[in-house]
Amino acid sequence: MGELRHFPMQVNVMKKKVLFIDRDGTIIVEPIEDEQVDSLEKLAFLPKALSNLRKIAEELDYELVMVTNQDGLGTLSFPEDTFWPAHNKMMEMLEAENIHFAEVCIDRTFEHEGADTRKPGTGLLKKYFSEEYDLENSFVLGDRVSDIQLAENLGAKGILLLDEFKDERAVLTTTNWDEIYRFLRLPDRKASVHRKTNETDIFIELNLDGSGQGSIDTGLPFFDHMLDQVKRHGNCDLTVKVKGDLHIDEHHTIEDTGLALGNVSVRLWEIRWEFIAMDFYCLWMTAWRRWPLILVGARG
Ligand SMILES: [Mg+2]
Repeated sequence: MGELRHFPMQVNVMKKKVLFIDRDGTIIVEPIEDEQVDSLEKLAFLPKALSNLRKIAEELDYELVMVTNQDGLGTLSFPEDTFWPAHNKMMEMLEAENIHFAEVCIDRTFEHEGADTRKPGTGLLKKYFSEEYDLENSFVLGDRVSDIQLAENLGAKGILLLDEFKDERAVLTTTNWDEIYRFLRLPDRKASVHRKTNETDIFIELNLDGSGQGSIDTGLPFFDHMLDQVKRHGNCDLTVKVKGDLHIDEHHTIEDTGLALGNVSVRLWEIRWEFIAMDFYCLWMTAWRRWPLILVGARG
């Protein structure tokens, strides 16, 4: 009879990603006059915040945590009995849409007090600095620089819901909740490749969730034009820089660009990719996001 041996069981626990979400100016409208949502009449959701939060809650694997500064809550300038009815109504409406927050963190201090519990301080968020959480792949979503600073303080990424200015540290700046959902759903569909041989030196950067931005420079105007069609009609960001041995002819430039484009694309797609050398430069066959069949070639 064989010896029964015991091995320590290895359990891989997936770390939790968190979406830290600001409240005023991000989920609900922040009143311009006093920045206080202290009555039911002042309670209004931002356009598409509810529908996209619902999709984020139902489809994505982020734990939702609300983080909000409520200056002087509980003092004469902001009595609690004016705050809670509107806040509770908001939470009730969120719950009704299947949007559940694991935690709601409210700081009540004024800015001049310098409390570390007030955003961008992390005093209320200490528990998230643990092995249980994947802060590197977590996000802070808010409408102020302090929200982006909070992301930095947490070691997370910041999303700015604002159009007045940009903060270079934010990974996304937008006023559109649809874009936030799309970004969170597909945060990593970007890749680049640098391919260098004796014949060609190629740099390609591709973002499948772009908007038709980027530049194409292969040294061949018609090839540039065809790749530009891929970028434009595929609604992706595509940058292609090629230095090829055009003093011989164009075929290395076209073939190697196709190979590099294939390399960068297969990293991003989980669907069928086909690369076929053909008699013409580049033919975009079908919708970029559905059946990416790109024919690149130059040989006669
Ligand atoms: Mg705000």
